[in-house]
Amino acid sequence: MGWLGLDDTDSLAGGCTTKVMEDLLQNLPQQCIVGEVRLVRLWPFASGRTRGNAALGVSIDCDDENELISHLDHWWNNEIVKLKGLISPSHHSNRPQVPSDPGMVWFSEQPDESFYWDAVRHHVDIDDQPEATKTWGGLGVIGAIAAVSWRGKEATWEAIAWRRSQTSSQPRSVCPAALVEIDSWDDTFLSRDPRRGTSLVAPRGLSPVLCGVRATTRDIATKALAVLLESEHTESFSGCRTYKTNQATGDHLLPSTVAVIEEVLVDEARKHARLITSHGEWVAFGEGGPVNQLARWLQQGDRVEMRGLQHPNGSYHLEQLRAITWNARKKQRPLCSQCGQRMKSMGRNQGLRCPTCKWKCEDSWDDIAAQPPFEGWVEPPASSRRHLSRPLSWG
Ligand SMILES: [Zn+2]
Repeated sequence: MGWLGLDDTDSLAGGCTTKVMEDLLQNLPQQCIVGEVRLVRLWPFASGRTRGNAALGVSIDCDDENELISHLDHWWNNEIVKLKGLISPSHHSNRPQVPSDPGMVWFSEQPDESFYWDAVRHHVDIDDQPEATKTWGGLGVIGAIAAVSWRGKEATWEAIAWRRSQTSSQPRSVCPAALVEIDSWDDTFLSRDPRRGTSLVAPRGLSPVLCGVRATTRDIATKALAVLLESEHTESFSGCRTYKTNQATGDHLLPSTVAVIEEVLVDEARKHARLITSHGEWVAFGEGGPVNQLARWLQQGDRVEMRGLQHPNGSYHLEQLRAITWNARKKQRPLCSQCGQRMKSMGRNQGLRCPTCKWKCEDSWDDIAAQPPFEGWVEPPASSRRHLSRPLSWG
């Protein structure tokens, strides 16, 4: 038995590593037995990454390893090499256009788990990688090695179906009623945006992927996808597979940091908040919703706990935040000394009056500690979360 890894075969012009791997697996020599295919998301800031930032790994059982390697060699040269360097002139995405640089690896023995942890949390160099039994291609080798190194002790599942027309630019049809049904199941997640009710299962653009359903068990992911595909209101598909993934594991986050706020800088135009803290600079983007709201509310001297990941420029991107202690104060009217109701102003310089017993007193304010807009940990809304982000509600 050995491990096959593949990465970086997709581009904005279309293609998806899941489909490239599927075609490869469907055409293996007959005696090969294919294990569970893993879809592994990696460090979001890795340079040279294509859009999905997902690599694939799978164990393969075969009688004759040399025959398999020679088969993979042919497949690489005939089917995958041509995907190198594809970029799209499309203006649909404002992401930098990085040409794909496919990589494939074969390991007779699964490489050490540490290569996964490095590649999901940091920048890694191609020179620091373990030597594979056989390596094909370029930068994609890094993700391919990370994918086969992942042990998957903590995992979720995603069941993916591919479109019948690989090159269609038509919007995808996925039955809305079936989507509402599977979204209501306990073990599926991120099928619909809980605020807007819009679909989160289908990608946009030229990808061959029709849709992908995420779940906390393999069985539910597979069943939920089947419900979508069986509907006459879902377009026809060419094939499907359920992947074990590191999505929603939170594996990309560094251990949490407790820090004191030194300064809060808000970019009003872009809504970003930059927290200058005793432990580095942390950025909360506008899309972060509650994280951004809480970050903007903070002030000098507040103590916070943060989880995030370090950007190559040295700052941290904030994903989860909670206020521990804070200095914000607010003023409120005192309570009525007769009946305990909150006093109300009768107008400028006219004193306060109790709305219940009509007791009157002089104008005054109580100075009390303010409450943050959110208590406890906050995270971005579902539609803005990274594939890797573990929802707070999962504990
Ligand atoms: Zn009163």
